[in-house]
Amino acid sequence: MTTPANKLKPDWELGLLKSMRNPKAIVATDAWVTVIKDAYPKAEKHYLILPKAYIRDLKALNSTHLPILRHMEKVAKYIIDIEDKSRTFMLGYHAEPSIKQLHMHIISNDLNSEFLKTKRHWNSFTTDFFLKPEDVAYSIETKGYVSILTQEQCEQYLKAPLVCHKCTYYPKDMPDLKRHILIHK
Ligand code: AMP
Ligand code: ZN
Repeated sequence: MTTPANKLKPDWELGLLKSMRNPKAIVATDAWVTVIKDAYPKAEKHYLILPKAYIRDLKALNSTHLPILRHMEKVAKYIIDIEDKSRTFMLGYHAEPSIKQLHMHIISNDLNSEFLKTKRHWNSFTTDFFLKPEDVAYSIETKGYVSILTQEQCEQYLKAPLVCHKCTYYPKDMPDLKRHILIHK
């Protein structure tokens, strides 16, 4: 029997939901959330915190989700606490995620990884495309929804000129940037 093409769920779209059930991917879990290793880490350390209850994305959030958002912030602090203290971590949500199930990134600020290949990857963690967890929670607390960036604003951030996130170096391209960030190690 054939399945209509529009009913097929691409593996990629469901990948996070699958990884949440994969013991090899899980770093920590409690009643509300699962923390997994990012399968294509964009830095030396890269984790994702996901609610156990299905929440598609930022647009699906409303004021009933404030407790889970606050809990995700606490879990992020816990993960950073049990990590190597010499590392600094960045926390955030991509304004326009590529994959289903709400997830907060916990990513070490070296951004040194073979999987970080493109300008879009770089800018997704180093510009205001990377929404701060406290801003998302505050928006839910005060307005009951997250003010999502427009498609145009997202594109502006993702296509912005490359700049080192630790100094004022403007690399000429990604290979130049990837060489440059090693001086900050
Ligand atoms: P974004 O949707 O842009 O916030 O990022 C999605 C993140 O999920 C990326 O950092 C991917 O590397 C990661 N990712 C994609 N598929 C999987 C998977 N099956 N398991 C774990 N992480 C994944
Ligand atoms: Zn620099």
